[in-house]
Amino acid sequence: AHLDRIAEIDGELGAFLHVSGAEALVAAKAADDSIAAGEQLSPLAGVPIALKDVFTTVDAPTTCGSRILEGWVPPYDAAVTERLRAAGIPILGKTNMDEFAMGSSTENSAYQVTRNPWDTNRIPGGSGGGSAAALASYQAPLAIGTDTGGSIRQPAAVTATVGVKPTYGTVSRYGLVACASSLDQGGPCGRTVLDTAMLHTVIAGHDQRDSTSIDAPVPDVVGAARFGAEQDLSGVKIGVVKELQGEGYQSGVLDSFRAALAVLTERGAEVVEVSCPHFSYALGAYYLILPSEVSSNLARFDAMRYGLRVGDDGTHSAEEVMALTRDAGFGPEVKRRIMIGTYALSSGYYDAYYGQAQKVRTLIARDFAAAYEKVDVLVSPTTPTTAFALGEKVDDPLAMYLFDLCTLPVNLAGVGAMSVPSGLSADDGMPVGLQIMAPALADDRLYRVGAAYE
Ligand code: GLN
Repeated sequence: AHLDRIAEIDGELGAFLHVSGAEALVAAKAADDSIAAGEQLSPLAGVPIALKDVFTTVDAPTTCGSRILEGWVPPYDAAVTERLRAAGIPILGKTNMDEFAMGSSTENSAYQVTRNPWDTNRIPGGSGGGSAAALASYQAPLAIGTDTGGSIRQPAAVTATVGVKPTYGTVSRYGLVACASSLDQGGPCGRTVLDTAMLHTVIAGHDQRDSTSIDAPVPDVVGAARFGAEQDLSGVKIGVVKELQGEGYQSGVLDSFRAALAVLTERGAEVVEVSCPHFSYALGAYYLILPSEVSSNLARFDAMRYGLRVGDDGTHSAEEVMALTRDAGFGPEVKRRIMIGTYALSSGYYDAYYGQAQKVRTLIARDFAAAYEKVDVLVSPTTPTTAFALGEKVDDPLAMYLFDLCTLPVNLAGVGAMSVPSGLSADDGMPVGLQIMAPALADDRLYRVGAAYE
């Protein structure tokens, strides 16, 4: 049914870069057979999924939305891919994304535009717009995204779906093609909080192949989501981040946020205001740390190891082939960040830029720690505005960056956060998201509050 739905609607929406129809049917049949044989699989066995095209898959190309990886089929599965397969979850295909996960609208994909199913003239969010559009248009009941600065939560907010960025280190990055390694985290996406919790359980857990993987038990997120369905939040203290509201936020978004606070209070939670003074510097710090890591991580695309190779005709040196390939293979946003990162890391500038940004990062983590001494979770709007029009911000990188204002602090501090649908904006009838943030390794709180709110 989902493959039929993809065939029917994805020509218009452009959520998938690659559809693995035959492989998905084989996996679904195998899941059925295992269940019939009495094997204990995940409760999600046989329920298909859309996978962001940044996770390696042995049976499908992995492009990361970039020409430089066009046609590359990886020799190994990512840890997340492996876990999905082991749970009997058929992979419907690979979803569109901003090139190497850099962007907020999926318009930086080298391949195609993805449209928001709520209004096809608007962006589906980014970088994981393909996964969110697939969910919102019922092409897939579950999806996987990655969140470096908001790429799971922000697309979820603008498509009225649920997206979770788990605590850093709790979902393996093995086989997740790196954007910024200290910020990247894979996570679950669904249409309900409980679906998302079940998927969270499948993909989270320690992995020795990722040196930043945390060896800690995965919290009972499914139990928390079920508990939340009883709508009781008495004893839960919720902090409203003072710095994540006000100027630059659409009135429809703020109205929806206030209505959400009223619902949380009604469910029994105590809602108080909390100040996180350094969140205002998150954008500046993020756009130094991320490009610095990008400039290093993307050095591996050297025309020798993967995908595209330009100018290899016997008349060019290896260095020239490398330069020609990187020039043809990377899009403008990726080049911009490689240059910014290389500059920020160069000797003489390192302390002034990268070093300074790392200090700000610590201050942001301390803001979170101080807030969590007073409250159990923090909340804010997920985005300052609803989905904007396709093309509106493509020529203005700074305006594009500002769309992730509310989601960036979480990645810098390594904590977990969720976006849960919060109604439609009175301004334009487009979806709004409520962001819930929890302390590191307490991702179950996201599900408890998210399910109670939902
Ligand atoms: N939009 C942010 C950026 O461009 C976040 C991207 C992400 O989370 N992958 O970096």
